[in-house]
Amino acid sequence: MSTRPTEPNHNIILATLRDYVEQIVEEGLDGLPISPASLQREPSPRPAATPRESEDASTRPPTAARSETSEAQAAPSAAGTAAALFAVYPGLEKTANLAELRAFIGDCQRCKLAKSRTHLVFGVGNPKARLMFVGEGPGADEDAQGEPFVGRAGQLLTDIIERGMGISRADVYICNVVKCRPPENRKPEPSEIAACQPFLWHQIELVRPQVIVALGSVAAQALLAVKTPISRMRGVWHQARGTMVMPTFHPAYLLRNPADKRLVWSDVQEVMKVLGLPAAKRGRPR
Ligand code: SF4
Repeated sequence: MSTRPTEPNHNIILATLRDYVEQIVEEGLDGLPISPASLQREPSPRPAATPRESEDASTRPPTAARSETSEAQAAPSAAGTAAALFAVYPGLEKTANLAELRAFIGDCQRCKLAKSRTHLVFGVGNPKARLMFVGEGPGADEDAQGEPFVGRAGQLLTDIIERGMGISRADVYICNVVKCRPPENRKPEPSEIAACQPFLWHQIELVRPQVIVALGSVAAQALLAVKTPISRMRGVWHQARGTMVMPTFHPAYLLRNPADKRLVWSDVQEVMKVLGLPAAKRGRPR
């Protein structure tokens, strides 16, 4: 009797491939080899950088040890001015606090992530926090509970905040670039990031944190409108719309690469210095 070969599980293949690409990108690889034939295709048009983006790039703090000027490229999802963002969703500019913003977002159907979500994960924490963490998007636990960073990666983030920085998780503000879970935990697509970005920027404007910690490549690239790998941005101060941004690795990456916790701890210590936080008594997170 002949047996039928097992069908490949495409989701597993995609998840494995994604993990591999994420890992090599976070290790600093800029790209993968492509065939000469693919170079002959018409390039996609890229929107020109807005004056504000140019200004942001030129006003980075002098403490930034590495220059990104030559490698920074306007991402497809790069936000324009605040006015342009508000124009995307008329009425957004009238929301004067986080509760009003959440009500404005409502049962949002503005991108295709709405179809598969259980809960829209808006954000949590102190509405006047001096420190804001921005991640990529909700995972399965976050989607189920409606709160950002509550799974294993969330526990590690809480450990970083409470054990490492010596402050309560309730004293910071935590949210994501996209508010709805991408299926199979894939990365959010540029169109999804662009659709949700007005909400993120308005959240930042309402909280007005002194420092934003961008967790992982998606958050850092969305906030800074660059395509630089996180491994080359982390540990260096950047600026987005007048707010200091410290990119660092995503806690989910640290779960797979615990040896890099020391790099995140170094980044966190830079943040603590700027915020004037004393060295935590109990030492760095485990
Ligand atoms: S990800 Fe953002 S834009 Fe897309 S449906 Fe959710 S809230 Fe709306």
